[in-house]
Amino acid sequence: MTSPGKLIVLTGPSGVGKGTLVRELLPRHEQLFLSISATTRQPRTGEVDGKDYFFKSRAEFEAMIAAKELLEWAEYAGNYYGTPLPPVKAQMKKGNSALLEIEVVGANSVKNIFPEALRIFILPPSFEVLEERLRGRGTDADEVIAKRLTRAKEELELSTEFDYQIINDDLEQAIADIEAAIFS
Ligand code: 5GP
Repeated sequence: MTSPGKLIVLTGPSGVGKGTLVRELLPRHEQLFLSISATTRQPRTGEVDGKDYFFKSRAEFEAMIAAKELLEWAEYAGNYYGTPLPPVKAQMKKGNSALLEIEVVGANSVKNIFPEALRIFILPPSFEVLEERLRGRGTDADEVIAKRLTRAKEELELSTEFDYQIINDDLEQAIADIEAAIFS
């Protein structure tokens, strides 16, 4: 029988570069499966339903919570975000490792359901760099950025609750650090 894959949780504040790290890691490791989250936030330009996220109404999302279809979920900047459980279970059973790219509250709660999950916190080189990255992205309105920055301060205080803290300053170094955490 194939031994079950790992559950890897990558978290950290919005704008820290989790998405870029995941995009670099996936093609390098074919046994990694990226979980596609459900969210009630509006799609950004270019985002595709079922690829970037499963875009849901609040009622649909609340039905998923009630049916216990989510491995974890959290409210973030006025919207729900959560990880559909069945695809994660199916991939792990096949021996693949499931990678969740999620915010900090949900990431912290994963340990209650999957104590063996490997939980990695990505830190910015400084708060100023995080702010520059969020503003430079140009995808969100000022008030959304302000909400994300307030939340980021709270999130950074929780970094020590995680198994690994990795600074995303030099991209290749951060990838090597994540690979060492996952595969060592
Ligand atoms: P964004 O709106 O920028 O796509 O995502 C906002 C935040 O929600 C990011 O920190 C992202 O990692 C997080 N997020 C995305 N999917 C999930 C999920 O399934 N669960 C949780 N808890 N957070 C998520």
